[in-house]
Amino acid sequence: MSKSSRRNFLKGGAALAAGVAVLRNANSLAATTVESKPGTRLAQFDYKDVQLLDGPMLEQFKHNHNLFLNLDDDKLLKPFRQLVGLPAPGEDMGGWYTPSSKFDPPKDMTGYIPGHSFGQYLSGLSRAYAATGDKATQAKVHRLVAGFAPTVSKKFYSDYCLPAYTFDKTNCGLIDAYQFAGAPHALEVLNHATDAVLPYLPEKALNRAEMAARPHKNIAYTWDESYTLPENFYLAYQRGAGARYRKLAERFLEDDTYFNPLADNRNVLPGEHAYSHVNALCSAMQSYLVDGSEKHLRAARNGFAFVQEQSFATGGWGPNESFRTPGTDQLADSLSSTHHSFETPCGAYGHFKVTRYLLRVTGDSKYGDSMETVLYNTILGAKPIQPDGTSFYYADYNNNGASKFYYEQKWPCCSGTFPQLTADYGISSYFRSPKGIHLNLYVPSHVSWQQGGTRVALTQHTQYPDNGDSSMQLAMTRPERFTIALRIPAWAGRQTRVAINGKRVDTQLTPGTWAEVDRTWKNGDRVEVSLDMPLRLVPIDPQHPDIVALLSGPQALFAIEQGAQSITKKQLLAAQRVGSSGAWEVAASAGKIRMISYPSIKEEQYRLYQST
Ligand SMILES: [Zn+2]
Repeated sequence: MSKSSRRNFLKGGAALAAGVAVLRNANSLAATTVESKPGTRLAQFDYKDVQLLDGPMLEQFKHNHNLFLNLDDDKLLKPFRQLVGLPAPGEDMGGWYTPSSKFDPPKDMTGYIPGHSFGQYLSGLSRAYAATGDKATQAKVHRLVAGFAPTVSKKFYSDYCLPAYTFDKTNCGLIDAYQFAGAPHALEVLNHATDAVLPYLPEKALNRAEMAARPHKNIAYTWDESYTLPENFYLAYQRGAGARYRKLAERFLEDDTYFNPLADNRNVLPGEHAYSHVNALCSAMQSYLVDGSEKHLRAARNGFAFVQEQSFATGGWGPNESFRTPGTDQLADSLSSTHHSFETPCGAYGHFKVTRYLLRVTGDSKYGDSMETVLYNTILGAKPIQPDGTSFYYADYNNNGASKFYYEQKWPCCSGTFPQLTADYGISSYFRSPKGIHLNLYVPSHVSWQQGGTRVALTQHTQYPDNGDSSMQLAMTRPERFTIALRIPAWAGRQTRVAINGKRVDTQLTPGTWAEVDRTWKNGDRVEVSLDMPLRLVPIDPQHPDIVALLSGPQALFAIEQGAQSITKKQLLAAQRVGSSGAWEVAASAGKIRMISYPSIKEEQYRLYQST
């Protein structure tokens, strides 16, 4: 029987009734409407539907959840109370968070943006409540909204260097408090907060060059990020905050300098502030989702492709927080000129968010590949936030003496995005499709949903990416036909396999697509995926084919305490695993070099790129 006739045979109802799986590869799905969102192919799960199980992602989520749950309310609210002249009990948080007379940008950033990350902490807690149902977390969200309400005043923003920046986060916190934690007055508070900030916002989105061309009190006034506002304005509109939020969203779309050229496939990223411009792509995605703007979808897709074009092998981007020009030496030069290679928590947060949007709309598995690269090589190796606000900020890819280090200021931006991102780990792992479920991340987790007449629960166990094996078990009250689509990464080797109930599905799998298993599933069914993870070399860019990183599957391997040893491509590709430790060893001419993943690095110095 030929392959195609066999496939046709397998697609028949008789085969399905007999419990035979139909497996096919699909790069994108039929354009079917999911949950009333026009133009989307996949839908996000609710936070409560996906639970992380024991593993490093759950550990990060729990750490951040507990840290912010236990942070004193008065401390969190203090800068708002201080700046509007209300009694402000409690300790100072310090760092960027507390107003300070020392602030002298760019020399001294103490007191940079008082209260800036409050909304993000509120958002992270609201999402954590939605994921866990923890009542103490919900109570804290309600208390913080109630405590914040009386501080809302125009006074807060007078003499405030980044009004759009802080308001955008406040907006996000309030709409999340409303949506995910049921904070009753959150939208009302948002409406007051919007009235308070509007006089301080420019008439349209302005980039840094445009801000710098206007009169400004000091350099920090040119760093505001009005172009990130639309995403949360669109969300506020969708969550019922009122019609004016849609108008505000449209007003702050950064069309003239950013989205219009991106939609025409012109790369205007070089020189722009990196994280906030990846974040701005999420505004373009919301413009597509709410207003149906194909131009903005094009801008986001092209913009993301430009980001990838000048990314590191880790998936990180934007050394010294700015985009570089493709086709030049700029990215390679950054390996010797800076230790500020990637703004990790914020960058990973924006990266997860925009890839989730792009996955939902296009169904293209390449966005999942990109998300997992950033997960395993950047954020999962971030040092934990300390209770005093000491935070991890930059990943370091410098060729000389790279190490993990904390940021010099307490409570920076990255302390706000980190708890939001870890709360989003679950909803980034699976997506609903009209035909069933898409498994995007191979992570220890549990997901449940209503499929036709039955409730389905899928439990995933995996040590990935230390090895390529993951197994999923189904629990359901009665058999139901649906599709489980498994992301087969573009780098997957020929030995990649899928098995159902121990029996290999003998269809050729195509890397860079979803392997869709369409079948009548029953209680206790097991799916096993074994991803073949060949070693491969990834050059920093096409101009520098000899500056390479070694990767195993999604995971970059960092050379530890290598000193001045030189190394060849052949030696790198002959790396051997050291037992089951997850470490690798490369036999270089002058001796053995140990290589480990980013999350495994502690205090050691390391090197990402090898000159071969
Ligand atoms: Zn940051």
